[in-house]
Amino acid sequence: MRKKLAAGNWKMNGTKASLGEVTALIAAHPDPKSEVLLCPPATLVEAMAQTAGGKIAVGGQDCHMKQSGAHTGDVAAEMLKDCGATYVILGHSERRADHDESSAMVCAKAEAAKAAGLVAVICVGETEAQRDAGDTLEVVGKQLHTSVPEGANDENTVIAYEPVWAIGTGRTPTLEQIAEVHDFMRAELVARFGEAAEGIRLLYGGSVKPSNATEIFATSNVDGALVGGASLKAADFGAIIAAL
Ligand code: PGA
Repeated sequence: MRKKLAAGNWKMNGTKASLGEVTALIAAHPDPKSEVLLCPPATLVEAMAQTAGGKIAVGGQDCHMKQSGAHTGDVAAEMLKDCGATYVILGHSERRADHDESSAMVCAKAEAAKAAGLVAVICVGETEAQRDAGDTLEVVGKQLHTSVPEGANDENTVIAYEPVWAIGTGRTPTLEQIAEVHDFMRAELVARFGEAAEGIRLLYGGSVKPSNATEIFATSNVDGALVGGASLKAADFGAIIAAL
C-alpha cells in the first residue's frame, strides 16, 4: 500500500513571514492521513523545518549534482539535508526551461540526492505541442528513462507527472489522460526496476486545487499531488490534504 503524498512547491515565493502558513496548516491538520511535504525556496528550508517540527516534511526545489566545490549560487544535496530537508524536487519543467537542465543532469542530481539521503521528487511532463502531436507517452517515457537513476525505489524516489501546459494555467488533463500517463509510468518503472517499483509514488501536478483534488486523487495510479500555487496558503493546501 503506497502512502499518499501531498507535496507543495512554493517556487520563488515566501519569506520568513510566510511561515505562519505552516503553523496554520499544522494547527488545522495535526494528524493527516497522508504524508505532507512542503518545498520552500532554499533560504527558508531551515526555518521551515524548525517551524514544522517533524509534523510535515520539508524539501528543496533543486540541488547541484556535485556535493561541494566551485559552483557559485548552487546548493548541494547535503546542505539541504543539513538544514532539515528530507526531499528535493528535481527536473521541474521550470528548471528544465529556465536553466537548460537536461534529463542527464536531472539523473546526476538524483544520484547526488540519493548519496545525501534525500528522496528525489523527479518531474516529467510533455509540452502542449508534444501532446497535440500525440507524443505524450513517448516524451514521458524518454524523460522517465533518462532522468531516473539506477537503483530507484520507493524509499529514494517519487515521480511527479506535470504536463507543462497545465502548470499555473488553471487547465488540467482529463482524468482519462491522467490515468493513461500514470498507468504507463507504473508499467515502465516496473519493467525497469521490477517489483520494487510498485511502491514508488506517482504524483500528479499542474493546477491542482481544492475543487479538483478529490477526483484527481481517485484516479488510477495517482498517489498524491505536487501543488504549486495552491500550496502557498494553508487554507487551500489544507483542503487538498483533506481530499487525499
Ligand atoms: P501549479 O504548479 O499547481 O501552480 O500549477 C504545479 C507545479 O509546478 O509543481
